Amino acid sequence: MAIIITIDGWSACGKSTLAKALAKKLGYVYIDSGAMYRAITLYFLRNHIDWTDVKEVKQALKDITIEFNFNENTLQSEIYLNEENVEYVIRDLVIAEKVSDVAAIKEVRTFAVAQQQKLGERKGIVMDGRDIGTTVFPKAEVKIFMVADERVRVERRFKELFEKNPNITIEEIKTNLEMRDYIDSHREISPLRKAEDAIELDNTNLTEKEQLDFALLLAKKKIVENIPA
Ligand code: C5P
Repeated sequence: MAIIITIDGWSACGKSTLAKALAKKLGYVYIDSGAMYRAITLYFLRNHIDWTDVKEVKQALKDITIEFNFNENTLQSEIYLNEENVEYVIRDLVIAEKVSDVAAIKEVRTFAVAQQQKLGERKGIVMDGRDIGTTVFPKAEVKIFMVADERVRVERRFKELFEKNPNITIEEIKTNLEMRDYIDSHREISPLRKAEDAIELDNTNLTEKEQLDFALLLAKKKIVENIPA
């Protein structure tokens, strides 16, 4: 029987790397919930939406369609905002600087969470984010909460973003991660926190393979337990 696997944790912990690898191994769908908040932020910025105004936010959300489509070349699912592939553009620091403010808005969360829950209806899914094990799928069979030293997280994100933008600085990344982690863990609705039944995974000193082996073991155990007698 297919199960739901949630991976939550601090920014730039390597959640998506693990989630993608795990989904691939299990033949499951991978959904990057953070990409949804980033896509909404991109829409708000492009359309000059005043997100302190609830009416404007509600109207804007009516005009937003978000979909994930599988790319046969990259073998990854990519996010589409109103039929435009925005997988690459949403990774920009300009978006990262605003996304936590947008993600703290009640109407935005209601909109995104409803879609996330729909995507998980048939199970067989790995979803990463901040509130997946607590709010989106509180009954998920496997919940992982990822942590890593800040220094390692900043270095990882710097390497990723430097390839796209050689002008980026370590300081900018550090400030952004600290700001997002603060807002994400202090907001009123669904703040980032470890679900009581989540297993903590500190990957500061782990290779990608070690993390994957750890998660696979947890997942396979639950999948076997879920096979009807
Ligand atoms: O995962 P990623 O870093 O791309 O997420 C971007 C931002 O989206 C987070 O910093 C957080 O503000 C928001 N987010 C959220 N809930 C989720 C996933 C992401 O609030 N489930």
